[in-house]
Amino acid sequence: MKKVSVIVPCYNESEVLPAFYESMTDIINKCAEYEFELLFVNDGSRDSTLSIVEDFAKKDSRVKFISFSRNFGKEAAMLAGLEHCTGDFAGFIDADLQHSPDLIPEMIKAVDEEGYDVAACKRVDREGESKIKSFLSAGFYKVINRISETYIDEGAQDFRIMKRSVVEAILSMPESNRFTKGIFSWVGFNTKWFPHENRERAAGTTKWSIRKLLKYAIDGIIGYTMTPLKIPTYCGILSLVLGFIYGLSVLVMLAVKGHTFYLGDRAVLTAVLLVGGMILLCIGIAGEYMARIYTEVKNRPKYLIAKTNCEKNKIK
Ligand code: UDP
Ligand code: MG
Repeated sequence: MKKVSVIVPCYNESEVLPAFYESMTDIINKCAEYEFELLFVNDGSRDSTLSIVEDFAKKDSRVKFISFSRNFGKEAAMLAGLEHCTGDFAGFIDADLQHSPDLIPEMIKAVDEEGYDVAACKRVDREGESKIKSFLSAGFYKVINRISETYIDEGAQDFRIMKRSVVEAILSMPESNRFTKGIFSWVGFNTKWFPHENRERAAGTTKWSIRKLLKYAIDGIIGYTMTPLKIPTYCGILSLVLGFIYGLSVLVMLAVKGHTFYLGDRAVLTAVLLVGGMILLCIGIAGEYMARIYTEVKNRPKYLIAKTNCEKNKIK
């Protein structure tokens, strides 16, 4: 029997966990042809999340849990889940019932029978989300997709089920600043998208503060683009070009007007533009090397194989 691991990151979710467990078990009880593992990752909750999960585990052998020593963030919880799950397929679902468990059987079918590597949900609307959050997040995706080498889909959600080969691919990325949305796109693989409507949280409140979202956005931009490091180069080139043009115009004026032309400030401005430009360009060059070093230390795999018939390192 094939096994499906469903990873549930939880941070202060005691209010919603009983309802979540009920809906989830309702669905998985109906999928009798698969074995399930419900892996709760308690991300340092300060409420009774852990004891609730332990109670589930006592009465249901499918329930496994990992409990962090403090709050490490959803990204860390997802990573721990992937590292500890044992299924042939593994996926994530939020604990707040914003992700509908009813979709799980279809998602499993997509990866097990229809030949997809990943079944993932895509948000079709932003119903129920604050205007300001929608606005900021739309802006973020516009910026990141303009400058990033990896396309990051705005609507793509963490709610997904993947084959073991995809799980291994994600785990082969050793970076410690983990921006999961970027990682999902970066590893690629054949994905079936399920349109998914935004739903209200069943209980409790969102765990994302503006500070956490900002950190998330910065992690995304720094982790998936080298463009910020190129800014000094562009500014430097601009300043040098302006300096040359301005200097040239000053020289022309000097030639035309002779010593009736007052040189003072103009010479200083030319020098500022030229020297400033050279300094910025040097910083930019150092930035280019830093970008290369950054890529090397991230130590991402050079490629990922989705399928092969070579015997060595064969992926199931
Ligand atoms: N979560 C977590 N650690 C955190 C923040 C959130 O494990 O530091 C979990 C949370 O318990 C939930 C999921 O991540 O299961 C999504 O969080 P939330 O619903 O608060 O985010 P939103 O849906 O508002 O974007
Ligand atoms: Mg939520």
